[in-house]
Amino acid sequence: MSDVQELPNYVDGQWKRSSSSQHLPVINPATAEVIARAQATPAAEVDAAARAAADAFEEWRRIPATDRVQFLFRLKPLLEAHSDEIARVITEECGKTLAESASEVRRGIENVEVACGIPTLLQGWNNENIAGGIDEHLFRQPVGVVAAVTPFNFPAMIPLWFLPYAIACGNSFILKPSQRVPMTSTRLFELIDQTGLPRGVAQLLHGGRETVEAILDHPAVRAISFVGSTPVARQVYARAASQGKRAQCQGGAKNPLIVLPDADLEMATRIAADSAFGCAGQRCLAASLAITVGDARQRFTRAMAEVASARRVGCGLDPGVEMGPVISAESRTRIEAWIGRGIHAGAKAIVDGRGRRVEGYGAGFFAFPTLLDEVNPDGDLARTEIFGPVLSLVHARDLSEAIALVNRSAHGNMACLFTSSGAAARQFRNEALAGNIGINVGVAAPMAFYPFSGWKESFFGDLHAQGRHAVEFYTQTKVVVERWPREVSPTF
Ligand code: NAD
Repeated sequence: MSDVQELPNYVDGQWKRSSSSQHLPVINPATAEVIARAQATPAAEVDAAARAAADAFEEWRRIPATDRVQFLFRLKPLLEAHSDEIARVITEECGKTLAESASEVRRGIENVEVACGIPTLLQGWNNENIAGGIDEHLFRQPVGVVAAVTPFNFPAMIPLWFLPYAIACGNSFILKPSQRVPMTSTRLFELIDQTGLPRGVAQLLHGGRETVEAILDHPAVRAISFVGSTPVARQVYARAASQGKRAQCQGGAKNPLIVLPDADLEMATRIAADSAFGCAGQRCLAASLAITVGDARQRFTRAMAEVASARRVGCGLDPGVEMGPVISAESRTRIEAWIGRGIHAGAKAIVDGRGRRVEGYGAGFFAFPTLLDEVNPDGDLARTEIFGPVLSLVHARDLSEAIALVNRSAHGNMACLFTSSGAAARQFRNEALAGNIGINVGVAAPMAFYPFSGWKESFFGDLHAQGRHAVEFYTQTKVVVERWPREVSPTF
């Protein structure tokens, strides 16, 4: 137990162990070893953190935005200097490969960079002389105490979708990271602490459902950003909205990609494999359904079978490994059960990743790539998020039929098309019911200056994470109509 790191909360500028006796173990998914422990923060400690944030807000909101962003200018080089070390922590607690962890850190830093532009992004509107001698202005003011609840699969990037914008807009902030990956956010907050950010502006609280509920119900917390599975996103959205709070809740996904016969098959296969099996399929932008059109079917299926079988699976810290474990033993059991159910319902396993082990890591939670053909497009397998390295194949006669299949999904996080036809791409872009679209791209992750635009059951709310949407979410508009009659200013 001596190697097990104890993870405190960060409240009012200080590291504090929770008084809770409920411990939350952090398990390295490649080895099944407990590597750290956090505690489930109880409601009374959530209250103390929310009060500290509310007190800090009163001063923080008055600090000019140009001064507030100086803390982000200090945070960026700290994150860069420690990015290898943060990537290692991500791999240890989350399982993805070191290269995947490093690129997630980079995507997180990009949000810090964009939020450094808040003085410009916060600018309002003005009209002079809306009527004789009367001017009208729109200002953006911070909302107050805001909180983010984040999932296990991007322990560094997703907290950074929220924190930099929230504080640069003048809010104070509470992060509740996934209890399965709390080490990364602890490391992020150690670096935030080094920026000299005034106490109470950012807090870190560990915990699970009860801690989230205490945050949602706290009267000082005015806005909630959530990323996680659809059922929890829906619950969090409803609970926040019923209390008159702002909420942006990103949910799960079932992302289709269409392969047309005129696509560059070599490129499409490589990109589709990265999308389906990268991060062991545990990405909300992972492709999990490939719809081939016409004679793309045979060629794509054959090529995908080759790359799926050849993918090197192992511990994410080891060189040459292309895919790490899934997050938990339960996840692997769930993924394998879905494969079994799909086969039972008529799908054909072209590559079956069940029941395999990685040498030297016998206890690890490894699920190998799986490719299933002849999947019923209306069956559960084709409609449900599996969140593992499983790609289902479905076939369509033409592009319109393929788009109709895409649009039957309850989710709308991402949809992709592989083609060399501009006209096909244009039709798809216009008709596909998903908020993030990839054309010859398999993980259409918006840059930090674009919103992460999930639709349908992949998102509850209206303003998304990142960029201008984040600025709008974290500010409230104040419209001022102003008249200054000449005659009441006798001094001029
Ligand atoms: P999850 O829903 O289990 O947990 C997410 C967060 O909610 C965690 O912090 C967890 O502690 C908390 N939580 C869990 N149950 C709760 C409850 N009943 N009430 C209140 N809070 C609760 O999700 P996960 O397994 O950590 O992450 C994977 C899911 O996240 C997948 O469905 C994936 O698609 C989704 N995801 C979506 C996006 C997106 O941008 N749409 C991005 C990343 C991940």
